[in-house]
Amino acid sequence: MYERGEPGHGASWAGAGMLAPYAERIDDEVLLELCRVSLALYPAFVQCVVEASGVNVELPLDGVVEAAFDVQRLDALVAFARELIARNVACKLLDRNESLLAEPALGKHILGALIIEGQGYVDNRRLGRALLAACRTRGVVVHAPVRELAIECDERRVLGVRSELGFAPASVVVNAAGAWAAQVPGVPPEARVPVTPVKGQMLALAAPAGFLRRATWVPGAYLVPRPDGRLLIGATAEDAGFDERVTAEAVHRLLDAALAAAPSLGAFTVTETWAGLRPGTPDGRPFIGPTVIDGLLCATGHYRNGILLAPVTADLIASFVETGDATPLRAFSPLRMVEGASRITHA
Ligand SMILES: Cc1cc2nc3c(=O)[nH]c(=O)nc-3n(C[C@H](O)[C@H](O)[C@H](O)COP(=O)(O)OP(=O)(O)OC[C@H]3O[C@@H](n4cnc5c(N)ncnc54)[C@H](O)[C@@H]3O)c2cc1C
Repeated sequence: MYERGEPGHGASWAGAGMLAPYAERIDDEVLLELCRVSLALYPAFVQCVVEASGVNVELPLDGVVEAAFDVQRLDALVAFARELIARNVACKLLDRNESLLAEPALGKHILGALIIEGQGYVDNRRLGRALLAACRTRGVVVHAPVRELAIECDERRVLGVRSELGFAPASVVVNAAGAWAAQVPGVPPEARVPVTPVKGQMLALAAPAGFLRRATWVPGAYLVPRPDGRLLIGATAEDAGFDERVTAEAVHRLLDAALAAAPSLGAFTVTETWAGLRPGTPDGRPFIGPTVIDGLLCATGHYRNGILLAPVTADLIASFVETGDATPLRAFSPLRMVEGASRITHA
């Protein structure tokens, strides 16, 4: 693995770690199914990482909450609950009192809430550290930081990677450079995937552990607890290029939304603000699988759900490398956006 910064410190560090495909309102049924499959893989994935690394990673999947503070929103939640039940997704509508019992931190002006069961969050920073340790115990060599990474290819196939450490030959190279995947030097134009950065800003408060029990959507923001008491408030979605600055306006807007829904948060200290770049794609689907250059694969473009989609992405890439069968990857193929590439077939 070659990383130009600190491993696990891109969007995967900046994210909120929510594992909540239904609360994300994904319209694309194919993508929703991929998210659903990945969510089902999560407990075994985390257990495997914990065992290999010795780092404990908690995985609270006891539901996510959507809170309503006006009648219109409450009606929308009732309609959404019907839709979820029709899909066999367990959920529960709560009246005002039940909502306050479930999440006492929410303001008394709440009208009701919806709990979607079986979803939750993972501490993505801790998972990143555990994953890195697990990889090292399994023999993965991590080169970081490298300054001048370039992929080398001939007209047909990938040859390896070059950096200040020298040339490393490889028959398979996976471009997993997130929002920067289209910028990696040496990738031929026909194998470049149109990934663009979507900036997300967040902040954290120091709240007593358990102050908020579940990841909770409120109008204009989401609130995500951490076992250590940090309470995350996110997130903006901005088309701002590769700008990773935290702005006063975004912090103001996020705090405004959070405090309108849970006024008691106003007493807590702001401990951190940060921004990250989600890897966005033109159709909202990730790019997973082979490019037109033999051996050059992509695992990027996961936009808002890259933490959730980590286990299924790993499985799909590993299985393609082992079997050469791209059939399960067809819907997410990097070739779908490359002109003329659909004529090229891969074994
Ligand atoms: C604010 C925010 C909130 C989010 N919330 C959630 C959430 O709740 N749930 C969820 O599932 N997802 C969430 N996401 C999305 C998720 O974080 C991303 O989809 C995911 O982390 C992308 O992972 P990645 O490995 O592709 O990219 P990254 O984690 O960005 O990793 C890419 C890495 O490639 C390295 N790199 C780039 N170019 C080069 C190069 N030339 N040479 C060497 N290394 C290079 C970078 O340094 C970086 O470390 C959120 C994202 C943000 C920003």
